[in-house]
Amino acid sequence: MSDDPDTRRQIESIAEDNRPLLVLDVDEVVLEFLGPFMRWLESEGFSFRAQSFALNGNIFDSEGSAAAKETVESLITRFFEVQHEWQILAPGFSDALDSLSQKAQIVLLTAMPHRHFAAREALLTSLSVPYPLVTTEKAKGPAVSLLHGGRDAPVAFIDDMAYNLLSVAKALPSATLIHLMAHRPMRDLMPPLPDSIIAAEDWPMAARKAREALGI
Ligand SMILES: [Mg+2]
Repeated sequence: MSDDPDTRRQIESIAEDNRPLLVLDVDEVVLEFLGPFMRWLESEGFSFRAQSFALNGNIFDSEGSAAAKETVESLITRFFEVQHEWQILAPGFSDALDSLSQKAQIVLLTAMPHRHFAAREALLTSLSVPYPLVTTEKAKGPAVSLLHGGRDAPVAFIDDMAYNLLSVAKALPSATLIHLMAHRPMRDLMPPLPDSIIAAEDWPMAARKAREALGI
């Protein structure tokens, strides 16, 4: 049971489906986030230097000073408001999903304030991504568990953040967890993943692992 009431309402509005379930994070999985965010930062007079696996500490103002945590938070919020002008599909996403979506239910689960739902849904529609979108302001694990419901069919979850994958592991231990991150330079800085998570190099590999996990 998701502890975010808006998330729960969104999930309850999705048509029931008993096929294997594939839940996808949006930023860095369905859409490029870091590349477009870095280009937008440049347009705002900031720069991003990937020195550690974080946004905080890696964003610099025009004087060369690291942006404070509050500034970073407000930049992310402002970027979400203009996301439709900057974000593009992650490489390999469309081809991978063409085959997966015939035999599995696909749901997109994005950790983002609910007020950005409409903008994000419009962006995904404009990019011909037809799958239902769920936003959550709480942990992803309970939301994936609610999406899976009581169905007998298996579930796989793809995300670029280990804490989201581990949240799903905790709420739904049967889920297959796949890590995928479109932005290579940042992924190279990522701490090692726990053994329970499959590391996918790219969408073709993630799709192969998802098909194996879902038996499709
Ligand atoms: Mg993400």
